[in-house]
Amino acid sequence: MNERILVRYGDLMLKGRNKRTFVKEMRENVKRKVNNSRVEYIDMHDRMFVVLNGEDPDKVLNDLQLVSGLHSFSLVSITENNLDDITTLAKELIAKEIKEDVTFKIETTRALKSFPMTSTSVSQTIAGEILRSSEFLHVDVHNPEVILYVEIRQEGALVYLNKIPAMGGFPYGLAGKGLLMLSGGIDSPVAGFLSMKQGVELECIHFESTPLTSIESAQKAVDLSKELAKYSKFDSIKLHMVPFMKIHQDLLENVKESYMITIMRRMMMRIAEQVALKERALAIITGESIGQVASQTLESMHTINDVTSFPVIRPLATYDKQEIIEISKKINCYDTSIKPFSDCCTVYVPKSPAIHPRAYIAARYEKYIDLSLIKETVDQVMTFEISRETDLDLSMHGFTVKEAYEKLKTEE
Ligand code: ATP
Ligand code: MG
Repeated sequence: MNERILVRYGDLMLKGRNKRTFVKEMRENVKRKVNNSRVEYIDMHDRMFVVLNGEDPDKVLNDLQLVSGLHSFSLVSITENNLDDITTLAKELIAKEIKEDVTFKIETTRALKSFPMTSTSVSQTIAGEILRSSEFLHVDVHNPEVILYVEIRQEGALVYLNKIPAMGGFPYGLAGKGLLMLSGGIDSPVAGFLSMKQGVELECIHFESTPLTSIESAQKAVDLSKELAKYSKFDSIKLHMVPFMKIHQDLLENVKESYMITIMRRMMMRIAEQVALKERALAIITGESIGQVASQTLESMHTINDVTSFPVIRPLATYDKQEIIEISKKINCYDTSIKPFSDCCTVYVPKSPAIHPRAYIAARYEKYIDLSLIKETVDQVMTFEISRETDLDLSMHGFTVKEAYEKLKTEE
């Protein structure tokens, strides 16, 4: 069987004017991600073929699942545009794939209008033949378990049994760049993934307080960035590590406990904004979800948001935890996220944080802290390039992120 993967483009087909750029981008992204000298590509108007030439389809499909903007895939076989060949191929496919009782129907489309039969009569004829050849098939045109698709097209007749949903969304990077506030928790990596899926080029920023917090907590940010790097067009992602300990200590000493989280977040936001400006990112992305914890009431978000004029995107705002966990597992982040190392937000958590913090009160408390630390800290941000192949273990290089960063720099 002449096997190939039919790749269909998604949402992007809706965008009339940008369509050409999108399609071009999709084709390049597919080829870059599959990166396999055995396979070949055939570009068509609104879809493409990845011709397998004997390569394992699952391997190629796994890579294709990392490309945003694709709509669905089918593993198809192709043959000449005549009824006998199509029927033979359909029979082979059924014999190979269907081993138990199923209900089925045939859906034929006929793009090649010169083909001498209507779609309906093609379906009926083939159905008759394959019903005689397989004991497992039972027709159900309303609610079939299996659909056998036949597409009669210029380039030949395609026969296939499945449509596998792809990632959806838009091509990577076309939406512009966003800066993800990446903690070691469950939510922020999921927020990052959903943004990338929607076409956002992503960089990550992590606030680390080593040695007040353990190096393992910063390692989680490295490991999560590595998972996210798979979805980047470049297989790699920037991780900005912010040495937050000095600010963290200043807050612990000088801020009223109930406002600690609020002001910590405002400090993070101010620093994230500076880094976003430097990196030419257009938005800040967080993993906040309405109501999930005390610091995530709308009032709290409003008060934290008050220190920046950047758009703050919260992809998970309306998700519930179970939905978030499902995505987290799907993108292979969950096991890392639940590792029990505290970051700066979980160490010394106040017993009763303000649930309705107000910006003017936060600003009043901030008079007692050293705001000049913001610039000092921004100047000391340590940027790591994390690729999907990265094998970086910070703890092998020091007790603090700074030590590890400097050691790695001198080794370069
Ligand atoms: P997460 O699971 O993403 O940690 P969470 O439910 O624990 O989220 P919070 O701890 O309240 O929520 O944090 C809210 C958001 O603030 C996070 O989703 C993340 O975007 C950002 N954030 C928190 N801590 C850090 C950190 N140490 N570095 C970078 N961003 C952080
Ligand atoms: Mg958290």
